[in-house]
Amino acid sequence: MFNNLSDKLDKALHVLKGHGKITEVNVAETLKEVRRALLDADVNFKIAKNFTNTVKEKALGQDVLTSLNPGQLMVKIVKDELTSLMGGETVGINLSGTPTVILMSGLQGSGKTTFSGKLANYLKTKKNKNVLLVGCDVYRPAAINQLQVVGEQIGVEVYAEVGNQNPVEISLNALKHAKETGKNVVIIDTAGRLAVDEAMMTEISNIHKAVNPHETLFVVDSMTGQDAVNTAKAFNDILNFEGVVLTKLDGDTRGGAALSIKSVVNKPIKFIGTGEKMEAIDVFHPDRMADRILG
Ligand code: GDP
Repeated sequence: MFNNLSDKLDKALHVLKGHGKITEVNVAETLKEVRRALLDADVNFKIAKNFTNTVKEKALGQDVLTSLNPGQLMVKIVKDELTSLMGGETVGINLSGTPTVILMSGLQGSGKTTFSGKLANYLKTKKNKNVLLVGCDVYRPAAINQLQVVGEQIGVEVYAEVGNQNPVEISLNALKHAKETGKNVVIIDTAGRLAVDEAMMTEISNIHKAVNPHETLFVVDSMTGQDAVNTAKAFNDILNFEGVVLTKLDGDTRGGAALSIKSVVNKPIKFIGTGEKMEAIDVFHPDRMADRILG
């Protein structure tokens, strides 16, 4: 995860770590390298620039140059800023409803169906919830099938209506069914397209209005970098979602999505997907991720 970014930041900060005393020139050079590392990770130019400017201000404010261990202090400032860039605090999922309704949004292939299964499994095994999965991708029978396979694998009921082409109706029927069968959580998996288009946005917006979810999660493939951020913005403009799920962080992700998304949509990353298996889900902790990036 973020290997390239970690290596580059390590190299950039290594220069400082070696110096007992550091100069303003050392700091400036290091920050230039840090900015380059962020840009290489596909972080937006403005965000990278703001980042290094903030680190510089903090370094000056904390008298890094005259401190006992300037290298260590700089590393700490960079770590704190990385944490804050990724949202600062860990933000959990709101499970207050009876039942709690969670709506999944995102493009086709982002990992929505897989994540719906992972989340259902997590809530069932870790939070002791009785979960209902709902298949609303009325265009691709294979998607409903996939959800049913997942449901069977984790022992969670899947609600689907073969032949019904109206996802709003299916969602509302599913909520009724969930209430009748005493479910605590309903996870609605929706249809995505390969790119943002009006029909998809209208459909998800209609489902959103009809079910009034407690949590709308935007699922995005972290391998798509800046595109992930642009897609997040498009979905957030329509849905004003509660949180982001970054999938495929087990791959060779550069890091741009994780580092930029919070600044752009101002919504927390709540979960990450780290593999194809049902157990490959983690609550997102910005500070732990920053620790990991800085090694
Ligand atoms: P959807 O179209 O948004 O429902 O996407 P899917 O859930 O069908 O996922 C698309 C592909 O990505 C599938 O092959 C999944 O196995 C894979 N996938 C989903 N999440 C992850 C993840 O966290 N890591 C990896 N490596 N693959 C994932």
